[in-house]
Amino acid sequence: MEPIRITVLGSGTSVGVPMIGCHCAVCSSDDPRDKRLRPSIHIKYGDRGVMIDTTPDFRYQALRSQIERVDAILFTHSHADHVMGLDDVRPFNYRQGGVIPIHGSEETIGAIRRSFPYIFDEKFTEQSRPRLVTNVFGGPFELFGMEFQPVRLCHGKGTVYGFRFGDAAYLTDHSDIPEESMKLLRGLDVLFLDALRHKPHPTHSTVERSLESVEKLAPRRAFFTHICHDLAHARTEEKLPAHVRLAYDGLQIDVEGAS
Ligand SMILES: [Zn+2]
Ligand SMILES: [Zn+2]
Repeated sequence: MEPIRITVLGSGTSVGVPMIGCHCAVCSSDDPRDKRLRPSIHIKYGDRGVMIDTTPDFRYQALRSQIERVDAILFTHSHADHVMGLDDVRPFNYRQGGVIPIHGSEETIGAIRRSFPYIFDEKFTEQSRPRLVTNVFGGPFELFGMEFQPVRLCHGKGTVYGFRFGDAAYLTDHSDIPEESMKLLRGLDVLFLDALRHKPHPTHSTVERSLESVEKLAPRRAFFTHICHDLAHARTEEKLPAHVRLAYDGLQIDVEGAS
C-alpha cells in the first residue's frame, strides 16, 4: 500500500491549551507538548494532501507544519473548533488552481453553508473567497486513489463522523462508538481517539473510556487527542500502555499497515 503520513496539526480541546486566563500547571507548563491548538490532522499520500477539519488555528497550523497541499477537506462535524478556519484555505486555491472539494454529512455541509454564506453565494463576486465544491457522503468514497470510510460516532446526543483510510482511523469528538462502527475499525495500524480528560464528560470520551476502546479494537498503536488542560503530557503518558500515546501538535506518524 502507498505510504500515508499523518501530521497532527492540533491536539487540543475546543478552547485550546493554554486556556485564556488559566494559570493551572498544564496551562503554565514549559513542555511544548502541553501547548495544544484546536484538533485537526493533515494526511499526505502520493503527491496529495487531505485535511480532516479546518480549525480556527488553521492558518498558523499550516505554516507551522509546512503544509504544501490541500486537495480535499473532510469534516467530522460543524462545531466551531472544527470548521472556523475554512476561509484560510484560499492560499491553497491560489497555489494549486481549481476548486477544493469538501466532504461532510448532510447536516455538516448545511451548517458550513450557513456559517460561510459568502463562499457559496454567487452574488458575492468581488470578494476573495475560497473556491470550494461541497459533497455529502452517504458511505465510503474515494479520493485520489484511497478510500475514506465515514464512521458514525455519538457526540452526546449529536452525531459526528470519524474516518478510516487505509489502516488508520481518526475519531475525534465522541462519547460513544456504536457497535456497527466498531466493525469498521478492525485491523488498524494507527487509531486516533478523543480523550478529553479523566473526569466523565457528556459529549467526550475520557482516557479510561478510550483505553477500553483500544482494548476492544486492538490497533497496533493508538494516539489520544482533543485533550484539555487536565492532562499533563509527560505524567499522563507514564501511566499509559506503551502502544498508547498522547498526540501532540506537530506529531507525524507514518502508517505502516496493521500486520
Ligand atoms: Zn471538538
Ligand atoms: Zn489550565
